[in-house]
Amino acid sequence: MIEPLVDGYGRVHRDLRVSVTDRCNFRCTYCMPAEGMDWIPRSEVLTFEEIERIARVCVERFGIDSIRLTGGEPTVRAHLPVLVGKIARLRTGGTGEPVDVALTTNGATLRSVAGDLRDAGLRRVNVSLDTLRPDRFVELTRRDELDHVIEGIDGAVEAGLGPVKVNVVVMRGVNDDEIVDLAAFGRDRGVTVRFIEWMPLDADQRWRSDAVVGQAEIVAAIDAVFPIEPLARGHQPAERFAYRDGRGEVGVIPSVTRPFCDTCDRIRLTAEGQLRSCLFSVDEVDLRALVRQGASDDELAAAVAGCVADKWAGHMIGQVQFIRPRRSMSQIGG
Ligand code: SAM
Repeated sequence: MIEPLVDGYGRVHRDLRVSVTDRCNFRCTYCMPAEGMDWIPRSEVLTFEEIERIARVCVERFGIDSIRLTGGEPTVRAHLPVLVGKIARLRTGGTGEPVDVALTTNGATLRSVAGDLRDAGLRRVNVSLDTLRPDRFVELTRRDELDHVIEGIDGAVEAGLGPVKVNVVVMRGVNDDEIVDLAAFGRDRGVTVRFIEWMPLDADQRWRSDAVVGQAEIVAAIDAVFPIEPLARGHQPAERFAYRDGRGEVGVIPSVTRPFCDTCDRIRLTAEGQLRSCLFSVDEVDLRALVRQGASDDELAAAVAGCVADKWAGHMIGQVQFIRPRRSMSQIGG
């Protein structure tokens, strides 16, 4: 018998996001500073065995059935397929089904690792790509890697890691003139593009509400060129739209203008083993300390349940009560 992971608002949690490193080979302006990140010392980063143990407790005790590896950039962690293999072998409590293992990556080295990740048990991949223009890519990521990212997307499709999704953070005056080009890119390559509203989680604290390009504007821009119609929204945060000509779908993740906190089913583990019930949490539960002090599975499970029980109703971006978390996106795990 599993014990569902329910919070004070009745939300059942089934999705665990695991940051495997806070380090990244890009420096996206909307996420990280150009220089001066304080990296977590390696001794404080969870080992693969520690991640596997925490994941196992979540999966077996609470019926978590979906685990996404993220970061920082997860592919910069050595031997990532070994971790994927450990997680892919877990069986969800209650159903006995394998866990759905997914990855979010910037794609720069994906082509060379996609096959190994698939063979280890990875099922799906999301690749971040915010512009198709080489000069703008360098400005945004502070790296000259556009060709490699596109090769990584193609490599993931060829490796069968589908449906491959491409995540685009849209920012006014930065890349909002490329919404239609990026939608066309997805249609041509057979990948699902998802436009994400920019959230106040950048290390440089440049986020402003008027730089957020909202869902309505994104949908109108696409619909004017490639007519779309809404699809039913599932558990995913993305609002989904089908192209009326049958050439796939496109999504918007409207975290700011239409928050989906009331259906949130996610918890997050940072690279150094802090459990967060929300991207915007200001409190964390130190699972690494418990694991390293020799806590039992029961004690770990109680700590996870306690973290979720205290989850807030919502993040309140744009309201006076909003509190910006101390960590930026790359330090939490997006
Ligand atoms: N390095 C990997 C990548 O690039 O996908 C995984 C980590 S990254 C932090 C995860 C996702 O968060 C990416 O799609 C990225 O674009 C997104 N992201 C980062 N900062 C963000 C912000 N301030 N608002 C919205 N999305 C953000």
